Amino acid sequence: MAAKIIDGAACGREIRAEVAAETARLAAEGTTPGLAVILVGADPASEVYVRSKTRACHEAGMHDRLIQLPGSVTQDELFGAIDGLNADPEIHGILVQLPLPPHIHPKAVLERVHPSKDVDGFHPLNVGRAFVGDPRGFVPATPAGIMELLRHERIETHGRHVVIVGRSLIVSKPLASLLMAPGPNATVTLTHRHTVDLAQHTRMADILVVAVGKPGLITADMVKPGAAVFDVGTTRVPDEKHAKGYVIKGDVDFDAVAEKAGWITPVPGGVGPMTIAMLLRNTVEAAMRVHHARTKGERRRMGV
Ligand code: NAP
Repeated sequence: MAAKIIDGAACGREIRAEVAAETARLAAEGTTPGLAVILVGADPASEVYVRSKTRACHEAGMHDRLIQLPGSVTQDELFGAIDGLNADPEIHGILVQLPLPPHIHPKAVLERVHPSKDVDGFHPLNVGRAFVGDPRGFVPATPAGIMELLRHERIETHGRHVVIVGRSLIVSKPLASLLMAPGPNATVTLTHRHTVDLAQHTRMADILVVAVGKPGLITADMVKPGAAVFDVGTTRVPDEKHAKGYVIKGDVDFDAVAEKAGWITPVPGGVGPMTIAMLLRNTVEAAMRVHHARTKGERRRMGV
């Protein structure tokens, strides 16, 4: 059996077109959505991610602002930059690109971003809101993108067993809470480095999500025939044949697993483009909330 290859790039383009239309509508009414990205230091992979995020913003018609700070920046200076963006009415979404240099505490930084502008969904208030299903929160972009791909491909989650490899706060935990909620109604198993006999768990998955960062971790014998396999991993592997000197690899042995699975996401071109699309969607949502609050206030002042 050959799996259906899930085209995250095409699905991401559809969402970005919807975001661009909503951006144009809001801009015509006086609120142009704006996203600011803070990049600390000169990590080459982070620079690529940040550039693709700001480019996508620009293409959707949003304000995009990139704040580049040296790796030697102090935590207080970084807080100052975040505070400035928190107070800036042109900016509706703020994200601080991770990882940060070791002298800066990522938790403190993520908590400094105002929850209403935390379009990454990493502030504890938004983590909690997402966990209890409160729609005022922002759901992190990668799990939101996987949920969107499941809907797009009409993959049944109700009563199905989802196994997630990895337990990060960015991908795996929020995805588990979205999938087990009433609606999707999946049964979810989270696994990690200390899980005994990982293959025994992955083989039971109707839907297998892998977010680890170890190329080749998931081999065909670890996958149930017909399963839907979502590969979140993105690792730069040196490759002299490639002009860039590296290729991006997922965690799944793609060729062998594609022979056995029912659906599979490629790397690149699967989950990655959805992450950017959902980040833009969160930014438009943040701008829309500000816009509605403002217009409601204006109507009230005018007595209508
Ligand atoms: P992370 O914080 O790097 O954590 C990796 C997780 O994998 C940890 O929970 C770790 O377990 C687990 N793990 C490591 N080795 C394992 C093994 N042999 N068996 C089972 N579990 C194992 O995770 P992340 O931030 O979610 O990132 C994971 C990967 O996804 C990375 O390659 C990252 O670049 C990529 N990513 C891609 C996107 C995208 O848009 N495509 C977005 C986000 C992340 P412990 O907790 O026990 O250490």
